[in-house]
Amino acid sequence: MIIFIIIMMELGYDYPLYRPPSESNSLIFQVTLGCSFNKCSFCNMYRTKKYSERPWEEVKNEIDVISKLYPLTEKIFLADGDALNLATEKIIQILKYIREKFPNLERISCYAMPKNLLQKSSDELTLLNKEGLNMLYVGIETGHDVLLKKITKGATSQSIIEGCCRAKKSGFTLSCMIILGIGGKKYSVEHIKETARVVSEVSPKFLAALTLILEDGVYEEFMQKFGEPFEHLDDSSILDELEILVNGITPSSSIIFRANHASNVYSIGGNLPEDKDRMISLIRSLKQHPELLKPKVLRRF
Ligand code: SF4
Repeated sequence: MIIFIIIMMELGYDYPLYRPPSESNSLIFQVTLGCSFNKCSFCNMYRTKKYSERPWEEVKNEIDVISKLYPLTEKIFLADGDALNLATEKIIQILKYIREKFPNLERISCYAMPKNLLQKSSDELTLLNKEGLNMLYVGIETGHDVLLKKITKGATSQSIIEGCCRAKKSGFTLSCMIILGIGGKKYSVEHIKETARVVSEVSPKFLAALTLILEDGVYEEFMQKFGEPFEHLDDSSILDELEILVNGITPSSSIIFRANHASNVYSIGGNLPEDKDRMISLIRSLKQHPELLKPKVLRRF
């Protein structure tokens, strides 16, 4: 993989380059640069980039070069922030070529926003899925509409549910993210109650809970957009949120749940609802033993 990263740099890949932790062994092709929205107040990922769509010839050239080096690749991630924003025909052109060049491919994935999902019809999404795009990573962040506005997510709880359910019906596997602590003290209860509701309605195959850490680049903007004093949650309150979330999710199909991101106070995981009791008992015992939590210096968003 190190060789791949060096080749990517030589080909002129545009950094910073992000991918979900579960795509750590995937090849990455940047088909767009930056994020077409780029306004979420907590997100520092693409602030240095202006959104653009990469020309087909450049993408094709990279697929040609990399496919000769890694012909047996099984997983590919399309970067940057929302490759699904591309016109459907353009994505299909990329997917077809990738599948032609990587015969052993098992999965192609990308990040997607609710607005990307709602901008595509069910037929378009079904077509993209049939052409090999199988997995989408969607940031829900919170299910609470007041907070969705305050963090300028560009989505409502209803649009998140509609977009995600449309993608699921079109055959996609969904991996969703939510952020503990994003409502601060004041909105903690509503944040988790509404997030559990939205997650239950969507019932994604995978759910990741991250914990809010505001990086320098967005701290002031987050506070200003929040529009009222924001009080961060301490570790014990983050564990309270995690417990209420795990307890409150009632999925229609089993969810593989993880709170093992670098931002989290402790690595917790299991299936919902099957492992609910085990996870709740672990969370409760962590509240009694704060010395077991990850040191703050090791946490990052
Ligand atoms: S969270 Fe996602 S949609 Fe929001 S600005 Fe960051 S990359 Fe874009």
